[in-house]
Amino acid sequence: MSNVENDTTPLQNESFRDRIATVDEKGKRKWVYAQKPKGRFYNIRTWVSWGFFALFFALPFIKVNDRPLFLFDITETKFIIFGKIFWAQDFFIFGLTMVTFIIFIVLFTAAFGRLFCGWVCPQTIFMEMLFRKVEYLIEGDAAQQKLLNNSPWTATKIRKKIIKHILFYLLAFIIANFFLAYIIGIDDLKKIISEPLGNHIGGFLSILGFAGIFYGVYAFFREQVCTVVCPYGRLQSVLLDKNSMVVAYDYQRGEPRGKFKKTMQPAQIAGDCIDCFQCVKVCPTGIDIRNGTQMECVGCTACIDACDRMMEAVKKPLGLIRYASENGITEGKKLRYTGRMKFYTLILILLTGVLTVLLVTRKDVGGTIVRAKGQLFQERGTDSLSNLYTIKVINKTIKDIPLTLRLENAPGRIIEADGKDILVQKEGQGKGSFFIVLPKNFVNKRKTSVRVGLYQGDKKITSIKTNFMGPFNRL
Ligand code: SF4
Ligand code: SF4
Repeated sequence: MSNVENDTTPLQNESFRDRIATVDEKGKRKWVYAQKPKGRFYNIRTWVSWGFFALFFALPFIKVNDRPLFLFDITETKFIIFGKIFWAQDFFIFGLTMVTFIIFIVLFTAAFGRLFCGWVCPQTIFMEMLFRKVEYLIEGDAAQQKLLNNSPWTATKIRKKIIKHILFYLLAFIIANFFLAYIIGIDDLKKIISEPLGNHIGGFLSILGFAGIFYGVYAFFREQVCTVVCPYGRLQSVLLDKNSMVVAYDYQRGEPRGKFKKTMQPAQIAGDCIDCFQCVKVCPTGIDIRNGTQMECVGCTACIDACDRMMEAVKKPLGLIRYASENGITEGKKLRYTGRMKFYTLILILLTGVLTVLLVTRKDVGGTIVRAKGQLFQERGTDSLSNLYTIKVINKTIKDIPLTLRLENAPGRIIEADGKDILVQKEGQGKGSFFIVLPKNFVNKRKTSVRVGLYQGDKKITSIKTNFMGPFNRL
């Protein structure tokens, strides 16, 4: 017995290893009718999901210094994180952030399994806490949904299906709008919504495109995202070990499983699992957790709640399915904060510390200076040499900055090629050309290191190192 459509798989055999639970032997999709969960964990997850929704829908409206708190503008490679702007030039910070994130995922998963998937992954939260709830509201619980789907197309069925799919599309449309707000910013989104369609045809098509994808995912594709598409689930087999905390069935306590009858004597009851299949019926990915940790398990805890209810009903201790490690189950020990977890936590703290220092000390104005291609040095009168440079400056602040350049560690001067200061517009980039002129008697080697200070008025913004090329064999 299972919650997947037409499932005749005999349990307690090894056939679950042959294919994922939602695919039959011919490779055809089996629809999951997940029974509505209820219980302690589901209540907590509902609260967590409210927190998630509040954040997801509120964050695009929050601004710091007139900038969004978060923006992921992939079209301009401009990212704003906690109000700080990052450009492609901040790639090293991004690189380190990605490395930290990947290590975090690896370490976190090794210690805590798929806690992320079950509790905070947007796919799970939107599916289980929004779309699935709408479905329960319109079509009823799993058994009624199955009945409705297998019934002929009556007026009631058509009405329910139309209402459900309209609501699904509306929700997907709203999510798509907010999703786009994270990419282009809420102000640009408001323009797409309020100004004539012809002015924003690209933006409007993007919203429709995202809405179509979200609708397709939540109305039809569903758990396949987690079991077939998401690479994270597939990494479980290499990330987890016997100390990892996962949603697990305590087979030591549960086996041998057997049907429960009120008339049974205690000696007749073998294991604690009463083979009621409640844990299977609530599973949104259609698996039987009693077969052990499986790639499809998203750690949603629905089976924990279902099993706890049954344990309560038959007056047995709760937690036959619980958060536990394989070692915890075999040795009967509670989950421990092991040395490995401590070590992982330490590495994460160190990496996060380095990243924080980099972020805090990151300069609001940065740039590069390169010598003009194909030119070595020029004679300037009888006593000086010059090199031509181009400078590119990026302004990450919300104010325009007029920059002047000063030579910092050499007795020469700087001459702007066009005689003007460099104006770098807010959140923009500026560039210019200039000469560094040095006295010949200072240039006593082929390559002399010089530092150019970037000043706004008398205030130094930053300085950039470059090389001054002189003639060979000057010594
Ligand atoms: S096995 Fe349990 S925790 Fe895993 S996906 Fe199914 S119901 Fe959720
Ligand atoms: S809900 Fe608990 S008792 Fe029922 S089949 Fe699952 S593990 Fe066994």
